Amino acid sequence: MGSRTNLIKLPLGDLELVGYSVAGEETVVAAPGLDVCFDIGKAPEPLLSVNHVLLTHGHMDHAAGIAYYLSQRDFREMAAGTVLLPGRLAAELEQMLVCWGRFDGTQPPGRIVPMEPGQEYEIRRNLFAFAFATNHCQGSLGYTVIERRQKLKPEYLELPGPEIARLRLSGVPVTYTMNMPLVSYLGDTTSGDFEKLACVRHSKILIVECTFFDQDHHERARAGRHYHFDQLASVLKQMKNEYIVLTHLSRRTELPHARRLVDQALPPELAGRVHFLMDRPIRRRRVADP
Ligand SMILES: [Zn+2]
Ligand SMILES: [Zn+2]
Repeated sequence: MGSRTNLIKLPLGDLELVGYSVAGEETVVAAPGLDVCFDIGKAPEPLLSVNHVLLTHGHMDHAAGIAYYLSQRDFREMAAGTVLLPGRLAAELEQMLVCWGRFDGTQPPGRIVPMEPGQEYEIRRNLFAFAFATNHCQGSLGYTVIERRQKLKPEYLELPGPEIARLRLSGVPVTYTMNMPLVSYLGDTTSGDFEKLACVRHSKILIVECTFFDQDHHERARAGRHYHFDQLASVLKQMKNEYIVLTHLSRRTELPHARRLVDQALPPELAGRVHFLMDRPIRRRRVADP
């Protein structure tokens, strides 16, 4: 048992997501091809080799495995892991690692990168993590992983190489910057200004929580600052993503029920872009369910 056996793989075009997500229990979603793991859950073993953890907030179901992730990488003689996280939690994590150092005898090494909304971090050449504010708890963040490349302007495409080199040397800007938002991960959140960000709307993949589906759960969604599906449905109609992945469903929502609601509420073209990242036994429907 444990999260290790629960991890599922979701191939979406040329990217694959690997993760596990049930509200309140554990959420960890990796895009290994981009070398990032959004939240860390309980640090499942197959994801220890991912070099960057992008933590959205401090809730235990998203962050519990962080010290173990760093410590296991050290134990396995891997380079220290990098953890991006909301700025206000950076000092807390430092302290936590110091405490673990006293507790365990060895302090887990890690690169801790405090992030603020609007900031970017270079994951590797041409690949950046952009942070934005979400609406869940104080300082909570979402992230977009953006590929950025310099492209030759269309008017120079036909020119021979030496000619382009000559122009470049003479100071003519022959290239432009192309930003390709690949994956946006919202973590836990309810509606917020981030829904209007171009990088979120146009990400190839949008990973968004949908904790509540039932009609009698609107108040719980409001209180916990989570999306209810009724609210999310109208948000999704604005989104241009090729793939939309719903996570963080509560354990009492059954997948076929959720799938049916998605198919009923959204136009077929949009519903066809919606996927679920979850893997858990389907229990028999309760009689009380609508
Ligand atoms: Zn959560
Ligand atoms: Zn949370």
